[in-house]
Amino acid sequence: MDKIELNSLSYDEMKELMVSFGEKAFRGEQLFSYFNRNMGLTLDDIKLLPLQLRDRLKEVGRVNEVRLLKRFDSQLDNTKKYLFLLEDDNIIESVLMEHNHGLTVCISTQVGCSMGCSFCASTKEGRIRNLTPSEMLNQIYLIEKDIDNRISNIVLMGSGEPLDNYDNTLKFLDIIHHPKGHNISFRNITLSTCGIVPRIYDLAKENIPITLSISLHSPFDHIRMEMMPITKRYGIQELMEACRFYERTTRRRITFEYTLIEGVNDRVEDAEELARLLKGLNAHINLIPLNPIKEYDRNRPTTSRIESFKRQLNKRNIQVTIRKEKGSDISASCGQLRRDYLAKK
Ligand code: SAH
Repeated sequence: MDKIELNSLSYDEMKELMVSFGEKAFRGEQLFSYFNRNMGLTLDDIKLLPLQLRDRLKEVGRVNEVRLLKRFDSQLDNTKKYLFLLEDDNIIESVLMEHNHGLTVCISTQVGCSMGCSFCASTKEGRIRNLTPSEMLNQIYLIEKDIDNRISNIVLMGSGEPLDNYDNTLKFLDIIHHPKGHNISFRNITLSTCGIVPRIYDLAKENIPITLSISLHSPFDHIRMEMMPITKRYGIQELMEACRFYERTTRRRITFEYTLIEGVNDRVEDAEELARLLKGLNAHINLIPLNPIKEYDRNRPTTSRIESFKRQLNKRNIQVTIRKEKGSDISASCGQLRRDYLAKK
């Protein structure tokens, strides 16, 4: 039988495990806090638990270890990019960004990605595997240890499609939010998706007030299909209905990501249709100038064209932010760093 991944257990699961051993439930709380508050890494260090119990845990369980492989520091701002080594030698990346409201970590949820978006480096070799909850948690814990500081915001916007790894992502959210662990408010967490519609309904019903971010990138099905194959499965209308449901159910504002690509989605009619689509929705658009990757032969629009796209939306009462680029000197887009590193090896 496979051993239990102890550092992926939720608070309740940890307590149940202890009770199943004939121990008191508070032992579960101790172990949960050891991993998720004190960021403990091995069972040998947890002196709170009696030796006998530690041995028992080692018989049925194991601790999944993630190691910091390399850090890249931007010279332009305080952005840091991290490569982590997983137990099976896979490599994942995370980004630490400094904002006026604190420190944000952008984490990966899968090794690779199966969604196939044309402009995205993470998906070029498909999905290799899902990350477990502890592998998501440890991206945050190892970064905090590295900088000796606490982070305040988390975005699930690194490599992978979080809603394609639904159960592990939900468990990660439960653990990182738990008061006996890191106690991070759901309001400080953003989950970004390419639009797996049934999972958006599921997420809305979970009753967790995280921010949902939709990677839209075009208001037209025929254009979005070229960029994002998921559109063939779930069209834009269907996606928007799911967003309306999410907004109604959670009463949270939805964010839309819109990567601007010259000659693809930066025309006046794109802005017009986009504004029409979002009408009546409590929404905010983040415009992201394309980070060119070598597998996708397109460019970002000029700054003045980006500004004018923004004005078109503002004119129609849509809230828009142009995403400031961070750490552009240390390999730009999602999944690029890992690919560059693997290519050099
Ligand atoms: N799978 C999720 C989260 C990961 S991608 C999603 O699709 O939302 C995070 C964001 O980065 C998405 O909005 C994605 O479309 C965007 N992105 C990916 N590659 C990019 C690139 N080369 N330039 C600009 N944005 C990119």
